[in-house]
Amino acid sequence: MEKKLLIVEERCPQNHACPAVKVCPVGALSQNDFDAPVIDHGKCIKCGKCSNFCPKKALVLQSL
Ligand code: SF4
Repeated sequence: MEKKLLIVEERCPQNHACPAVKVCPVGALSQNDFDAPVIDHGKCIKCGKCSNFCPKKALVLQSL
């Protein structure tokens, strides 16, 4: 099944360094200051590590 990673910005408090950025094995997440993380969909392999790691469930791996 095809999947896509989404960021739900309303769930992200945007007041800290995103811990999920460090767990991505391919460097597909980046963050400017304390903004919600940005997804590079060209790099993302849709493994779901970041969505399991985010305590606020702001990263969602959605089945299309
Ligand atoms: S789903 Fe996997 S590859 Fe994609 S951003 Fe999250 S940790 Fe990185």
